Amino acid sequence: MSNNAIKTGLVLDKAAQPRPNVVVEAKNLRKNYKNFEAVKGISFQVYQKECFGLLGPNGAGKSTTIRMLNCVSPISGGSLSVLGHSVTGDIRQIKTQIGVVPQDDNLDVDLTVLQNLQVYARYFNIDKKEATRRADEVLELFQLNEKRNNKTDEISGGMKRRLVIARALINQPKLIILDEPTTGLDPAARQVVWQQLRLLRERGVTILLTTHYMEEATQLCDRLVIINEGRIMAEGQPRELVQRLVGYEVIEMRLAEEEKQSLLPLIANRPILLEEAGDTLYLFGQHNQAFHNLALPEGNYRLRREASLEDVFLRLTGRGLGAE
Ligand code: ADP
Repeated sequence: MSNNAIKTGLVLDKAAQPRPNVVVEAKNLRKNYKNFEAVKGISFQVYQKECFGLLGPNGAGKSTTIRMLNCVSPISGGSLSVLGHSVTGDIRQIKTQIGVVPQDDNLDVDLTVLQNLQVYARYFNIDKKEATRRADEVLELFQLNEKRNNKTDEISGGMKRRLVIARALINQPKLIILDEPTTGLDPAARQVVWQQLRLLRERGVTILLTTHYMEEATQLCDRLVIINEGRIMAEGQPRELVQRLVGYEVIEMRLAEEEKQSLLPLIANRPILLEEAGDTLYLFGQHNQAFHNLALPEGNYRLRREASLEDVFLRLTGRGLGAE
């Protein structure tokens, strides 16, 4: 390194930042179903020990991407590598090192909780003694020990979900891939699953998950991409994305037509972005004083709240995450 380079500090700063280990890398990844292109050239990287999210509405292409990652659906174009192995190469190398949590709880209802784990361990050639040891460990971790001898149709929906996640850990994977981990769970059961996933992340497991719940993404993800109609619309850390693309605060309103006209001059010189979705107007305050002393028309509905990822999606697509 030249003396000049050292003096500038530029090269030193770069050298001081360790390159994160890339666990998943998608480059211009595509998927066609006959003439329909479900994934239209997406690129992203997942780093070791982070929780990375694919966030998007139904039909965005999240499950399709997950199926390509899990090596159950061939890619149509671009490239995809998992733990350094291409999904078009030796897929056994990938399958033995990942844990997969599908959308449906595909447990064996004729078996007990413990037996479900033991049987799953056989796919990885783990001997019975070791399988039981690992099963005990994950049952403890996921607070399912009391139910170990119950059949799986005797446990709650939230417990089934936790068991499917526990099962995905039986081969001690370096990466766990979850497709919509809490869809269909009530809010309390969802909180418990979030807690378990945060615990796994603290233990150094790399997590890749899909979700259409922006709160789930905010709660769990270190970084995420927002996908819509097979394309990535934005990438970043949840809070940074909200601040960069939306701002701080949001006012939702429903106004009569003449009131709408009176609103525009009021906000014209303020750092406020206006979006209309359905019958609701959204005012995105990009500065923490954006709404200071702003006398808004009465309207028939008004809500002032913190900006969220839902607003990022709305700004990028003109519709909400829940919209079909
Ligand atoms: P998401 O998981 O984000 O809800 P999907 O990946 O399931 O989205 O679907 C993306 C798009 O691909 C949707 O339009 C869906 O109808 C379509 N699709 C998914 N699977 C198939 C399939 N096997 N054959 C044809 N089209 C499919």
